[in-house]
Amino acid sequence: MMEKLSAEEFDLNYKNVIGRLERAIKKSGRDKSEVTLLAATKTVDTDTINYAIDKGIEYIGENRVQELLSKYDRLKPAHSHFIGHLQTNKVKDIIDKVEMIESVHSIKLANEISKQAGKIGKTMDVLIEINIGGEDSKSGFSPEETENALTEIAKLPNISVKGLMSIPPATDLPEEARKYFRNMYKLFIDMRAKNIDNSSMSVLSMGMSNDFDIAAEEGATLVRVGTALFGKRIYT
Ligand SMILES: *Cc1c(COP(=O)(O)O)cnc(C)c1O
Repeated sequence: MMEKLSAEEFDLNYKNVIGRLERAIKKSGRDKSEVTLLAATKTVDTDTINYAIDKGIEYIGENRVQELLSKYDRLKPAHSHFIGHLQTNKVKDIIDKVEMIESVHSIKLANEISKQAGKIGKTMDVLIEINIGGEDSKSGFSPEETENALTEIAKLPNISVKGLMSIPPATDLPEEARKYFRNMYKLFIDMRAKNIDNSSMSVLSMGMSNDFDIAAEEGATLVRVGTALFGKRIYT
């Protein structure tokens, strides 16, 4: 559970997040329209999420299937992404409830997404998850595997690959994450240049509360922010 967050606290947090994002965008000479803010809403109650939506949050992301399902009926309309580790047998539970799955970490998972999307006559937008720090504890493709994975996944009939997503290693200082964001951006540009059929490479999802401004400076088009908007979580 999160600690109780007042409307005033959210308003202030939101203002700070927007400020950090705008400074980063300005610093890097990018345009506001190039970077989307997604609110990572794990552990946040539906009243608070709905309040955030009223205040202008347009994109929300859950990272647990059970939690997404338990909140789904009570949420106001918003663009909804799945951002967490997804097990193959849970795909059918969320296929009609999100507009993008950001965390495609295996060909097997991609196959199942395409199959379930096909059953309901949908094409699911996905991002390919990259394990940019080469960590054993994280899922995702290595940079070396990315081109092959992308080519295979893009062939699936009911999937549309929109780009890449990454959760870099946790660092003590936000600035230490910059090299991972740079590597991700390089990979993103590299994959875009390959013009792989049925893939667009328009979305690069990276950066969280500690470092989303650095990610935005380094080319993120989507940043996923939880704590900086909603306050500290007791569990993560
Ligand atoms: C929780 C979460 C975030 C947001 O993390 P914060 O550090 O709270 O901003 C971003 N991405 C994913 C995949 C998450 O699970």
